[in-house]
Amino acid sequence: MSRYTGPVCRLCRREGTKLFLKGDRCYTNKCSVGRRAYPPGQHGQGRKKASEYGTQLREKQKLRRIFGVHEAQFARYFSIAEKKRGVTGENLLAVLEMRLDNVAYRLGLAESRPQGRQLVRHGHFTVNGKKVSIPSYVVRPGDEIAVRQSSRSMEHFKAIMESAAPTLPAWLSLGEDHLSGKVLSVPSRDQIDLDIQEHLIVELYSK
Ligand code: SF4
Repeated sequence: MSRYTGPVCRLCRREGTKLFLKGDRCYTNKCSVGRRAYPPGQHGQGRKKASEYGTQLREKQKLRRIFGVHEAQFARYFSIAEKKRGVTGENLLAVLEMRLDNVAYRLGLAESRPQGRQLVRHGHFTVNGKKVSIPSYVVRPGDEIAVRQSSRSMEHFKAIMESAAPTLPAWLSLGEDHLSGKVLSVPSRDQIDLDIQEHLIVELYSK
């Protein structure tokens, strides 16, 4: 499946918020959201107030872009979330959070979700001892994620091993080597630090 390969900072500007798609740069004053705080394009500075539908659509696009998920795939996640017990919006966030590329990012093994996706795709991780190279692989409570032994000599992972442990959400734990972790539970809404109003997305799909 093709994926978006254009300038990612443009996506943040379109959503009017930081989506943290570029790792360290997102935390510097080079971030485009701070420097050009208006949507991209010829009419970026002249857009009017969004309609109710427009607001719901933007929220969905924001979430979709944070995780780098295509429209059809996102719709599938929504369908999964709807079938689960509980609040659909929260289920949706939880299933996205449990994607392997996101877990790599949350464990501090990648600087951003896009980098997490690339590292997974290149086969640097195992889940319960088996190599998994599918970024959309959804982990489960009890799963153990680790950097493969053969990948640990990479400069990227050596630097992680030598650096301080990152702050993790409560649903994950980190191994002593900083290169492995465990899924302790399905994340609850208060453990997902995303500035998303998921109820707007549910309303959009309920139309
Ligand atoms: Fe978004 Fe990061 Fe680019 Fe800022 S630097 S606009 S947060 S991708």
